[in-house]
Amino acid sequence: MPIVKDFFIALSNSQFLNATAKKLGPMFGAKKVVAGNTIPMLLETIQRLNDKGIVVTVDNLGEYVANEGEAIQAKDRILEVMYAIYDNNLDAHMSIKISQLGAEFDLDLAYKNLREILLKANEFNNMHINIDTEKYESLFGVIQTVDRLKGEFKNLGTVIQAYLFKAEALIDKYPELRLRLVKGAYKENEFIAYQTKEEIDKNYIDIIEKRLLNCNHVTSIATHDDAIINHVKQFVKDNHIDKEQYEFQMLYGFRTELAEEIAREGYNFCIYVPFGDDWFSYFMRRLAERPQNLVLAYKEFTSPQMLKKLGIILGGTLAVAGSIVSLFKFSKK
Ligand SMILES: Cc1cc2nc3c(=O)[nH]c(=O)nc-3n(C[C@H](O)[C@H](O)[C@H](O)COP(=O)(O)OP(=O)(O)OC[C@H]3O[C@@H](n4cnc5c(N)ncnc54)[C@H](O)[C@@H]3O)c2cc1C
Repeated sequence: MPIVKDFFIALSNSQFLNATAKKLGPMFGAKKVVAGNTIPMLLETIQRLNDKGIVVTVDNLGEYVANEGEAIQAKDRILEVMYAIYDNNLDAHMSIKISQLGAEFDLDLAYKNLREILLKANEFNNMHINIDTEKYESLFGVIQTVDRLKGEFKNLGTVIQAYLFKAEALIDKYPELRLRLVKGAYKENEFIAYQTKEEIDKNYIDIIEKRLLNCNHVTSIATHDDAIINHVKQFVKDNHIDKEQYEFQMLYGFRTELAEEIAREGYNFCIYVPFGDDWFSYFMRRLAERPQNLVLAYKEFTSPQMLKKLGIILGGTLAVAGSIVSLFKFSKK
């Protein structure tokens, strides 16, 4: 359903809607997939997941950073979260978007902010720091930053998006890093990325298998897709891949029962927990991936108070989204 995907990706990229949504606070069901906007709320969620044998990777939401002051503020907030995790002895680490550290207007500033985070992470039990990948146009900055830091820090990792033609080359480039493998969440063109689910799934399985067979640094298989998860379970069994060499990952609030079941089966499992006020762009990307996620939001969408609160512009956007939820409400999973 490319039009629906394009629609939500366009919303996720709107700086106006992101700024408006930030002021209004999490809504449309976003509360179910974002672990609140305070550190105590976040810590409570991490503890609950840790008690079930699940590790957490935390995303301090917010990618639209406009100036150096905001980038430094984001870095300070990340340090605060890291300290709280360490101080409370929780099993969690960080996932960071370098756009939040200033990469879109000053890559060197993002590098310096990230280096400060990594130095602190060394003091906090060598806490793992993962660099998320974002839109393709920012990939060069991610690669450059990772290349500058990987010799100095062993607790650094990044993400490879299977929809990119160059995904396999990137796997080969980083055998020494802990890598998260994903299908890819953004809208990329046919000159750089596979477009169909079949092609993306095939490349995803190819890079997972290649990585697991050739590298014993941790590989995180981050997907909600049963077919891929079952394939990987069989593959690791057939190839005697050590349990410590890989983990499964999912996003907070999605397929919770399945996540807990996989953890109970004895596989290493990590949940990606976003928190903070900048929920809009993250939530729109989740709707782009799977419009059925609108079911999370359906009741809130239709409340009159909500439409009043949002005003005419966002209300118009919601009207379009409301008709999409009707289309998908009864479609199968
Ligand atoms: C931990 C984590 C970190 C990520 N980090 C990044 C990143 O740094 N950069 C990036 O570009 N992307 C990232 N992503 C997003 C990723 O690229 C995909 O966009 C996202 O995971 C959706 O793809 P999928 O593999 O889950 O499967 P999809 O292709 O979306 O779904 C495949 C099938 O899985 C089942 N399914 C999926 N979701 C559900 C559900 N909620 N309920 C029931 N069944 C479901 C359905 O049968 C569906 O047809 C991350 C994802 C995860 C889980």
